[in-house]
Amino acid sequence: MNYIVLDMEWNQPWPGSPSSKKVLPVQIRGEIIQIGAVRVTEDQQVADEFQIMVKPKYYRHLNRRVSKLTGIKEARLKEEGVPFPSAMEQFRAWCGEDIVFLTWGFDDIGILRENLQLFGLETGWTEKWYNAQMIFNAQTDGSTAQKALKTAMEMFEIEATRPAHDALGDAYHTALICAKLDLKRGAAEYDQALKSHENGFHGAELPGCICRQVYYDFADKREALSAMSGEENRCPVCEARMLGSRWFAQPGHRYMDMATCPEHGKFLIRVRLSEQQNGLIRVSRLTYEATSEAAEAYARRAEKADPEDQRTTRRRRRRKAAVENVKE
Ligand SMILES: [Zn+2]
Repeated sequence: MNYIVLDMEWNQPWPGSPSSKKVLPVQIRGEIIQIGAVRVTEDQQVADEFQIMVKPKYYRHLNRRVSKLTGIKEARLKEEGVPFPSAMEQFRAWCGEDIVFLTWGFDDIGILRENLQLFGLETGWTEKWYNAQMIFNAQTDGSTAQKALKTAMEMFEIEATRPAHDALGDAYHTALICAKLDLKRGAAEYDQALKSHENGFHGAELPGCICRQVYYDFADKREALSAMSGEENRCPVCEARMLGSRWFAQPGHRYMDMATCPEHGKFLIRVRLSEQQNGLIRVSRLTYEATSEAAEAYARRAEKADPEDQRTTRRRRRRKAAVENVKE
């Protein structure tokens, strides 16, 4: 087995240009114009390299921002670029069989697959991949923030010897980082790390957290919050339906509510809404003991919402009406 560290540059139509109005048979976030890859062997030796320029077929005019960032000129693309299907043929031949892709970030593999689909090519060979950022975070500071490649290089004291925003340059630097990670362990722990990232459980929860749940596929915020204070509002002890009181908005698409089980008393509910890839809404839900710090936070927030003068009262009434609608 070999790891293939992959980095790509892609072109996007200039907003409002004729290209941007094109309807393609497969929606793509960008058309690949450069592929860089470095092989890292199973025992984590940085090995051979691959680079190819791809002549765009759909977005032929090079976006000047892309050009500025990558240093790629339209003339060079025309001269050196090969059509995508033939570039893929060469790339796959170089990759060989039994490969696992490593990328810095979540975008590259998705964009590669979109481009393959657009050209009617097979995508199965891209199935195994890891976002090296996630492994890096898990094995360094444990943060969930997506770090720039440059930041990660600094943390590992790797000096830049290749150009940045060049597909092969970035792939090479990523490979140097990957060689210093425990890739086997990273892969084994990856699914758990990814799940927790996707579920939106960023960082440690406050003390007193009893359970974490994730709910998917709500049409919008209203439907999500309505379910959270309605049919999904279950007591963590007996699973009976709890009665919500009122959602308070917090920064970062977060809301909290104090819920009551007739039998087991009060629980603080904190939810975070995020958009799924299909545009629907996912809810990460944390349930806390009402005696905890989190419950005190709720009390403070509720106190703050108390009317002080006419203006805040009016504003509050409107907000309250909206919340009541949500609960219907
Ligand atoms: Zn209960």
